[in-house]
Amino acid sequence: MVNIVLLGASGSGKGTQAKLLVERFGMIYINTGDLLRQEKNSGSELGLKIASYIDDGNLVPDEVSTDIIKNKIKEILDGQKPINGFIFDGYPRTNNQAINLDNILSDFDLSIDLVFHIQIPNEIIFERIKERVFIEKRIDDQFDEKINKRLTHYNKNKSSIVEYYMDSDKIYNLDGNKSITKLFYNISEYVLNKISLINEEY
Ligand code: AMP
Repeated sequence: MVNIVLLGASGSGKGTQAKLLVERFGMIYINTGDLLRQEKNSGSELGLKIASYIDDGNLVPDEVSTDIIKNKIKEILDGQKPINGFIFDGYPRTNNQAINLDNILSDFDLSIDLVFHIQIPNEIIFERIKERVFIEKRIDDQFDEKINKRLTHYNKNKSSIVEYYMDSDKIYNLDGNKSITKLFYNISEYVLNKISLINEEY
């Protein structure tokens, strides 16, 4: 099993790379934003609470995101087998969430193997997010103010998350301005390397 974190501002191309990873390596994609939006749209009590944060462009509290992630992993591990790995997108978004993710995974005897940090200038991110508002029905992204708020949150927390993963030598910085294919080629090389290292251990 190879477990991956995709780091990058929303709009950096993480979703596209995740889709390609799923197709090629059969990992399971966990997108926190999607999970939270699903809960929000379910109309549950928790969903109403989540809505107030998402609609204001703020991060939902850690106890909510931790539970959502933990339950999703559990649900997947209890179901479909074999599992080739998880891809986390949108989580962690803070240093504390990076620690939480390690703790959640260790409860299942798992850990993060690779972290891909997709770097891209803010102006390009902004344009990409505006383009996908209606295509992907991300209505919460239609206001510049909210996009800016999220970018600010992201930029504020980025370095501490990057440092966290640098300590354990798991992180690779990638140029998000490259073509989708070139970026995926780089990512695949790292994944293949990791898979062969894991196989050697057995
Ligand atoms: P996204 O689709 O990843 O841009 O996320 C949409 C919204 O979901 C964010 O603006 C936050 O309100 C919430 N969200 C997503 N991921 C997280 C997270 N890791 N922690 C807290 N809130 C999150």
